[in-house]
Amino acid sequence: MPEFGPEELRALDRAHVWHPYGPMPGRSDPLVVESASGVRLRLAEEVHGQRELVDGMSSWWSAVHGYNHPVLNEAATAQLGRMSHVMFGGLTHEPAVRLAARLVEITPEPLRHVFLCDSGSVSVEVAVKMCLQYWRSLGRPAKQRLLTWRGGYHGDTWQPMSVCDPEGGMHELWQGVLPRQLFAEAPPADYEESYARGLRDLIARHADELAAVIVEPVVQGAGGMRFHSPEYLRVLRQACDEHGVLLVFDEIATGFGRTGTLFAAGHADVAPDVMCLGKALTGGYLTMAATLCSSKVAEGISRGEVPVLAHGPTFMGNPLAAAVACASIDLLLGQDWQREVRRLETGLRDGLAEAADLPGVKDVRVLGGIGVVQLDHDVDMAAATAAAVREGVWLRPFRDLVYTMPPYVTDDEDLARVCRAVGAAAAAG
Ligand SMILES: *Cc1c(COP(=O)(O)O)cnc(C)c1O
Repeated sequence: MPEFGPEELRALDRAHVWHPYGPMPGRSDPLVVESASGVRLRLAEEVHGQRELVDGMSSWWSAVHGYNHPVLNEAATAQLGRMSHVMFGGLTHEPAVRLAARLVEITPEPLRHVFLCDSGSVSVEVAVKMCLQYWRSLGRPAKQRLLTWRGGYHGDTWQPMSVCDPEGGMHELWQGVLPRQLFAEAPPADYEESYARGLRDLIARHADELAAVIVEPVVQGAGGMRFHSPEYLRVLRQACDEHGVLLVFDEIATGFGRTGTLFAAGHADVAPDVMCLGKALTGGYLTMAATLCSSKVAEGISRGEVPVLAHGPTFMGNPLAAAVACASIDLLLGQDWQREVRRLETGLRDGLAEAADLPGVKDVRVLGGIGVVQLDHDVDMAAATAAAVREGVWLRPFRDLVYTMPPYVTDDEDLARVCRAVGAAAAAG
């Protein structure tokens, strides 16, 4: 029997528990989830006539196989019976080694070495540390700034915050306190030679102080759900090579098939020097991320005055998370996942087309398993969320965006329902 009823839970939650981007004490009433299975969240009580909600968010884009999946459950319980965790300093184990080898196998060719971290933000911290240390080791310590384009999101810890969009984003408060990075304008959706030229110029002009360019390839997620031409990745790769700057792709949101290719870099056939993975890495089961780098970067670091990467989280390489990540990758690659993502893409295009005619809708866009309705005003979160719940769907709009990134296992009927809910939320918000 549960110890607390939903009412009690909410009171304690409000008084004591921080939520993402939340005030304290809390002001909104989060829905209480009792369990989750397949694509459905089961609530502890009925809300707007619904006890179960189809999850249109994949738990922040991570639960690509849905919840309570027998294969992932089996991987977790089998590993639990062996060990849930051991320290990674001086010890190693099969789940972590297997995962690292698998990631090297499925990511672009030059990426050979894997640093396992406990969250996406930490993997970006590690990526930045790798790049800065690489140049320091080569006797170029002045190369310590980062370049990115506006509209990005790379996480909530310090270095990642410094490359998030500095305006209107979530970290505006810290302008002047964060390391000052270089920003290009946000990338246009289609290829524009003048924009590409601007990127090249910026990299050329600041090459002496630039350690790396860091971007989300093809899709900018939490910074605004914007898509851009993959051609820009080629421009970045070429300019970085020409001017001696490292290139980092943050594929935390785009990795593992979400945009229709296994990694978004695949749309342009471009390989970065450093790549961050997270979110769907464990199929949404446990917190784990990874920073991959090329041998050039690893060897550079190893030639330095301090020839080690001084980073080692307590829960580095967590065996439970690694075992589930291996199972999740096998599950994904063991099926025709491209067909499933294409099916989602078609369903989202069909299902969201009508939303374009709603008053207050500025743009509707779809790529792979991502469907976005952009409004011409900031969404009324409470009204939009309630409208989606009435349709039996969980959505979490932000700023002027109502969007969905459903689990790949969402069937056509549930997908149509998700699309109706996106429309209802856009109309209500
Ligand atoms: C979510 C996200 C992060 C941060 O990952 P956390 O696990 O939340 O720390 C970084 N970069 C991108 C592109 C993301 O979508």
